Amino acid sequence: MSLDQKITGFDLWHLALPVVSRRDHGIGPVEGACEIIVLRLTAEDGTQGYGEASPWSVFTGSPEASYAALDRYLRPLVEGARLSERAAIMARAQYAIAHCTEAKAALETALLDLEGKMSGQPIWALLGGKVRDRIPLSCSLANPDFAEDIVLLDRLQADGIGIVKLKAGVRDHAFDMMRLERLRRDFPDISVRVDYNQGLSPDEAEVRVLDVATLTPDFIEQPVRAHHFDIMAQLRHKTDVPLLADESIFGPEDMARATAERICDGVSVKIMKSGGLIRARKIAQMAGTAGLSAYGGDMFESGLAHFAGTHMIAATPEITLGCEFYQARYYLKEDILETPFQIEAGQVVVPDGPGLGNRPDIDKLRKYAIRSTEAP
Ligand SMILES: [Mg+2]
Repeated sequence: MSLDQKITGFDLWHLALPVVSRRDHGIGPVEGACEIIVLRLTAEDGTQGYGEASPWSVFTGSPEASYAALDRYLRPLVEGARLSERAAIMARAQYAIAHCTEAKAALETALLDLEGKMSGQPIWALLGGKVRDRIPLSCSLANPDFAEDIVLLDRLQADGIGIVKLKAGVRDHAFDMMRLERLRRDFPDISVRVDYNQGLSPDEAEVRVLDVATLTPDFIEQPVRAHHFDIMAQLRHKTDVPLLADESIFGPEDMARATAERICDGVSVKIMKSGGLIRARKIAQMAGTAGLSAYGGDMFESGLAHFAGTHMIAATPEITLGCEFYQARYYLKEDILETPFQIEAGQVVVPDGPGLGNRPDIDKLRKYAIRSTEAP
């Protein structure tokens, strides 16, 4: 193993992965397919590392932007660089292009995967070691047809999953209350969270949030737009149910402001928002220091990005509220990994193999590619 080796290969695939149903969220629906970018780095000796960018156009950015960020702006920082320069590459990436946090997450994941594959260590070991072997899984309910979500709930329960998150604030308040009451009545053993995804207007937020709070979900997430820090802070003071921030907090810079302005009791930590695993861990550490809770959220991802998030959470003691890596098994028609993302008895299994501990099936990358840099 030599971290003196140079990175010589930089390949990209823009994939459209078909999904099983439409899903509605406060900021917009997902329908038809999830679009992701897969990055493959190759070292001089032929060892390969993979990373995924999972953008959502209404939340973090577009797949086109992620592809261009990697292909045009981040590629020159990587080609010819040595593996030992990971921190320097990521520091330059931070300012080589504004935003595009999903592209930076893909880059750091691929660098860590490559380093782990070369050294024979899992990514969690490169991050300092693991604090857990299993992560409780939460699955989100966002089907406009609630009867279909009930069918999914039966499946989740049979699989041992004990946490769900109800996506609210898309239709009228009665629809949200009906679903929450039904969950409470028919699935009393399942823990319920509510996420508005910024769906409420400032004038209606208080009434709806306080009404939902009477049904005591574990927490209520991001009822209003990301920039409404003042309204988040006001709502937080009016309810005993914890208020979580998601869209309001992308990176450590937002976390510092959120803590100072006391807008939330907890935070959703996502590598696609923060721009990588190390910045995601920093957010969780800042939350822990400020006495706030944290859980491991995700975007519309394949199992490849789930693996990156799993390693990050495995090495981050402050993330105590589980994770949301459900898409690979419960939302995509077909995942892209060589071996399936592992969930046992409602918990994500932390992998012990080198790097990510898995890799994409190259035939599936070619099958679902809209475009790629691979030679035809
Ligand atoms: Mg959320």
